[in-house]
Amino acid sequence: MMSAKILIVEDEPAIQELLAFNITQAGFQVLCAEDADSAWQQIRNQMPDLILLDWMLPGISGVVLAKQLRADAHTKDIPIIMLTARGEERDKVLGLESGADDYVTKPFSPRELMARIRAMLRRHAPQAPGETVAAGALELSPATHRVTAKGIAVELGPTEFRLLHFFMTHVERVYSRAQLLDQIWGTQAFVEERTVDVHIRRLRAALEPVKMDNLVQTVRGSGYRFSIN
Ligand code: CA
Repeated sequence: MMSAKILIVEDEPAIQELLAFNITQAGFQVLCAEDADSAWQQIRNQMPDLILLDWMLPGISGVVLAKQLRADAHTKDIPIIMLTARGEERDKVLGLESGADDYVTKPFSPRELMARIRAMLRRHAPQAPGETVAAGALELSPATHRVTAKGIAVELGPTEFRLLHFFMTHVERVYSRAQLLDQIWGTQAFVEERTVDVHIRRLRAALEPVKMDNLVQTVRGSGYRFSIN
């Protein structure tokens, strides 16, 4: 099997070097970019399997680049881990809302970062394409990674796709944040329970144009339920 390609988007040469060293040592291929423009150039040359994205970049910020990546059909499924010196809860939520799937605060431990990279790649590894799932007027195809509502395409990031897939195959049941973390992020997850709320919000926003955001229901004190009734 080809080793995964990881694109590092980081403008500080010392950090870029440290990341490249650790990632290469772990057996992955490394691509490097120092800003958004060179990141897009790299992506056009070779599609990475994961992007490590620094928040503070010269010119276009990491947050804006994450949004661009999510808006582009070719890159919307690439998992993004955001790197940042900013550890505030508010920033964390903003980073996740921009489209990142995970978040690491500098200074980071290379060991923890590598564990997160591996966990993320495992979560996004191509699985045996499951069968198309239908719930209400929604249809989800794991093989093509497409979701449609009455035939209209619904655009989802990779985590929201997994979340919706889980919900559509487990309708009407209530799941706590901890249970959803376990199911969607896996036991290797480092993410906090609040992260679930961010992705629920993103899933609802994606379902809003087709007026199906109300299928994702908040059950006060318990968690969330996907209901087609
Ligand atoms: Ca930087």
